[in-house]
Amino acid sequence: MSTDKISIVIPVYNEDKVLEALFSRLIPVMDRLNRDYELIMVDDGSTDNSLEILLQQVSDRIKVVEMTRNYGQHAAIFAGFEASSGEIVITLDADLQNPPEEIPRIIEVMESGCYEVVGTVRKGRKDSVFRKIPSKVINGITRRIIGIQLRDWGCMLRGYRRHVVDNMLKSKEHSTFIPALAISFAKDITEIEVAHEERYSGDSKYSLAKLITLQFDLITSFTDFPLKLLFYSGILLAFFGISFGIVLAIARLVFGALWAAEGVFTLFAVLFVFIGAQFLAFGIMGEYIGRIYREVKKRPPYTVRQVH
Ligand code: UDP
Ligand code: MG
Repeated sequence: MSTDKISIVIPVYNEDKVLEALFSRLIPVMDRLNRDYELIMVDDGSTDNSLEILLQQVSDRIKVVEMTRNYGQHAAIFAGFEASSGEIVITLDADLQNPPEEIPRIIEVMESGCYEVVGTVRKGRKDSVFRKIPSKVINGITRRIIGIQLRDWGCMLRGYRRHVVDNMLKSKEHSTFIPALAISFAKDITEIEVAHEERYSGDSKYSLAKLITLQFDLITSFTDFPLKLLFYSGILLAFFGISFGIVLAIARLVFGALWAAEGVFTLFAVLFVFIGAQFLAFGIMGEYIGRIYREVKKRPPYTVRQVH
């Protein structure tokens, strides 16, 4: 049996009603594993009593990272990663929607199959329709963008090997989406089904606006598809303008000057060509901006596992 240390990273934002129940379920699960572990609780700028409750728990095994304000779940998890030292790092929501009892199974799968990332699919997801529909859309788009067939990106009960976490920490970008970023540094990835429960108390901390921002972060930080779109629409418009111009020229020769409204149509054709050219130029600039953007993100372009 492996004796690698386990780090559990939990972002907490206004969860004071939940924390006691969380600790009372999580700690026995971890103790039963009989191995070295640490809990990293990240207070993401809570405005209720969460921080006070967390601070009472501080010990050799429980660390509290206090953020200066609310930065969002993913930033909070990052801060937690930075404070973690385990060989296996597991992220978990504080609201008990991801049962802590599933943690041993993630560790087991990870170690028996030597996986670098273990994702999870929520079985019988217990959320409102209004929370599920945006998730469906997000999962669909994410699959398209990242191109890896994971079924559920939103569930934060996930396990990562140390080197994946370290590489994520090297990616100094402002807005990111952890499950997607992790996958870009790993080869051995699997997904297991886990139970899902109702929120223990309180409401989802994700409003529709926050979800849209998250989706936007995901699209802009993992593809430059929107910039490419400019380029392609430019080509299309210019092509359209040129064809239109040719049709006009032929029609003018066949039907005479009067039909062509004395050059008004021609003007339109010329206009289309120019608009197309403009879009094309934007697109090319966009391509460069995209490259600059990739550079400033300072993500490691590749990572070596080992030199033999
Ligand atoms: N969370 C956070 N910062 C935020 C929003 C949420 O740290 O700005 C935490 C929250 O406390 C919880 C986890 O992220 O532990 C997931 O949030 P929530 O349960 O509200 O999201 P949902 O289950 O609806 O995806
Ligand atoms: Mg939740």
